[in-house]
Amino acid sequence: MSSKKVTFTACGGANFINNSAYFFRFGDDEVLGIDWGGHSKDRQRQPVTYEGPKPKWLIYSHPHDDHIGMGPLFQRDNPDTRIFATEECKILTELSWNDKIRIAERRNQNKPFTREEMSAALSGIETFHSPGPDKAHPTRLQLSDNLTVYAYHSGHVLGGVFFLMEYKREFYLFTSDICFRDRALLKGAPLINFHNNNCRAIIRESTYINRNFETRQETAVKFVKFVESILNNGGKVLIATMSIDRTQDVFSTLEDLGIVRRWPVYIDGSGRATAVYMDYLPGAKKKLSKALSFSSFREREEMARSKKPAVILSTSGMMNKGTFSAFWASRLINRGENGIASVSYQDPDGQGFMILNSTHGQLLEIDGQPCYRRACQIGQFEFSNHMDGAEGMALEYRVRPDTIVYTHGEDREIERYIRSRTGDGIQRVKSLVGKEVSL
Ligand SMILES: [Zn+2]
Repeated sequence: MSSKKVTFTACGGANFINNSAYFFRFGDDEVLGIDWGGHSKDRQRQPVTYEGPKPKWLIYSHPHDDHIGMGPLFQRDNPDTRIFATEECKILTELSWNDKIRIAERRNQNKPFTREEMSAALSGIETFHSPGPDKAHPTRLQLSDNLTVYAYHSGHVLGGVFFLMEYKREFYLFTSDICFRDRALLKGAPLINFHNNNCRAIIRESTYINRNFETRQETAVKFVKFVESILNNGGKVLIATMSIDRTQDVFSTLEDLGIVRRWPVYIDGSGRATAVYMDYLPGAKKKLSKALSFSSFREREEMARSKKPAVILSTSGMMNKGTFSAFWASRLINRGENGIASVSYQDPDGQGFMILNSTHGQLLEIDGQPCYRRACQIGQFEFSNHMDGAEGMALEYRVRPDTIVYTHGEDREIERYIRSRTGDGIQRVKSLVGKEVSL
């Protein structure tokens, strides 16, 4: 008989965000992997290799680069591992992998994987039905006699899931990136209760472990006020946003609050992800089909030169060099009637952070051009699709496991949180790359 021992090891996405890759070992030789993500700065960097037995299965939790970005290489190196994802996750993953190759080609850089490796990986993914936002109906994956995985709607992005694993009648909860709030298009993740006290461990994300957000409505009202004041003064607003989920969520918020009816609102740079949302998410098409788009650079330049007020939602969210949002920032930044808004996390080393934290009149360099004097207005709004500090704590006490492992967060924030929660009988462990934790 195999042992009941269960362990968890992070091979990336541990006490930092990037290269998410997680492995559960059940008994002697049943290994389940979750995700094989990329790195936002080093596009070639993979998670570290898992040192235990070869994984029998790997599931992609959701199609963000830091969770699926290096998947083709994992699949190439582990041809016997069965790979799973929801249908929506697979489609959005394909867009994301394609983008990675295109960007490398455009910049004349080494590609992280070849087109052939990408196609082989895509055809190797077995899809499963996306669970609805209802806790009664997770999708059940019977992986072996002893191991069942229940995939629940994570509320984080279209097709995203979190997992409850059942092994020999005990449960292990893996949150991946999770959002409990209802947003403009996606419902929040369902709350799961454990009445039998039989959940041994939670492995949770820690992105905002010590931060509490205001309500979504409060953020939306402030955001729309900012956008409206600029439009009323004849200006244009750039909203720098991520192509998967944030673009669609923020556009729908503008639609819900009446902006789209009264002003031209463009989506520039995430047309394909938006099309997937329209195809797969009931109700999304009605809102998202109202987005305008540009068909050429000439049209963009004409719009940039025109005196017409407009809203442009454009990728990337961090205004990375050479992206559409960086182009729009360079065209809008030097006029006082315009505005630039951020709706997501900014890397302190990124171009977006530099623009958003500039002072009025400061000379800035955008995409290597040192000739922009900032005159426009700046707004920052947190439309998060992660749980916040209070929601994370509520999850811990609702489930009351023996052990909680903290992943996908900043090292010091995780430590600060663990220090603040001693004495309640729960073992709390900061995840470190390669460190095996017994659950
Ligand atoms: Zn994510």
